[in-house]
Amino acid sequence: MKNDNTFRVATFPGDGIGEEITEPTLRLLENAANRVGGFGFDWRPAVAGAKCYLDEGDALPEKALGEAREADAILLAAMGLPSVRYPDGREITPQVSLRFELGLYAGVRPVKPIPGVRAILADPRAHDIDYVIIRESIEGLFAPIAPGTRNGDAEARETMVITRPVCEKLFDFAFRLAEERGGQNKVTSVDKANVFQAFAFWREIFHERAALMPAIATDMAYVDAFAMTMVQKPWTIDVAVTENMFGDILSDLGAALMGGMGYAPSADIGDDHAVFQPCHGSAPDIAGQGLANPTAMILSSAMMLDWLGKRHGSSEAVKTGALIRSAVETAFAPGDLVTCELGGKAGTTAVFSAVEAALARTDV
Ligand code: ATP
Repeated sequence: MKNDNTFRVATFPGDGIGEEITEPTLRLLENAANRVGGFGFDWRPAVAGAKCYLDEGDALPEKALGEAREADAILLAAMGLPSVRYPDGREITPQVSLRFELGLYAGVRPVKPIPGVRAILADPRAHDIDYVIIRESIEGLFAPIAPGTRNGDAEARETMVITRPVCEKLFDFAFRLAEERGGQNKVTSVDKANVFQAFAFWREIFHERAALMPAIATDMAYVDAFAMTMVQKPWTIDVAVTENMFGDILSDLGAALMGGMGYAPSADIGDDHAVFQPCHGSAPDIAGQGLANPTAMILSSAMMLDWLGKRHGSSEAVKTGALIRSAVETAFAPGDLVTCELGGKAGTTAVFSAVEAALARTDV
């Protein structure tokens, strides 16, 4: 952060709906910060993604990576397009490369439905759902140090990598988060330790780190059973920590239980850097139609303010994050703001207008 209380933020609009939700989010952040006062932003636009790969032959150019490295935080909308692929058939995923480059081991995926958004689960206890999935984000089945191999038409292999240094940091992060949340004070390890030695090793380290945080309860779940728990009794979950691929899948399930991808925010956090981005991708099926729900992007930007504020001792930034979250809740509370995922007509502009209006009405 600069001496004048200005946060330098690298912004990656990326592809598809990412471009449509970025600019209005920055405007909302400016408005909210002005209401609270005491700090500002230095936006640093960065170009990366599938369109960039087509234009420049590189999905994450050095210039964009440099902006990310220099920034206090990174706000990313969505990257990749199914129609743009590397010669081996894989999609362009610079958002995943950023996690490796910047060591963002903890993928934080809150699952907390917004009151007023149509509940997906009928059980009245679904109103109490409030948990966080921590997705390990730099190794597991995505580990770049063990890229997949293909042997002609005969076979293809991928390798799961679980290492002690990353697990220790990841579990410590999860336990600290449970303590900070002050809710059920519980961390669940979500793995498949009954079948894979990588997960038996994972559990060993989980227990070692748990012993250092005796005030936090622990729980073990196999990933298949945990998927059921997310539907049958999600109110029993507090913080759940899991491998990269499992976290990828489970966080989409969590998003669905909040109403759709457009409601699910996330953060990828490391020791020195952090990327804040909605869980969704570039949604090419709805891009250019004004239908994208920007709520996940707005809530991700509130997570960014929270992280920046705590890291740099700016109570104003923390307050602004809370103000934005509260404006989102106010906007959806009456129940008449229904986005396309839930069969409604409220598009990008309608959601931003409702949140801006709520922001203007909210006391600071
Ligand atoms: P990725 O793998 O890059 O994360 P994905 O394959 O999970 O992407 P998305 O782009 O997230 O796919 O889209 C999944 C579905 O969710 C699509 O039907 C898309 O239209 C819908 N969707 C995603 N984001 C939003 C949004 N912000 N508002 C409304 N619908 C969305």
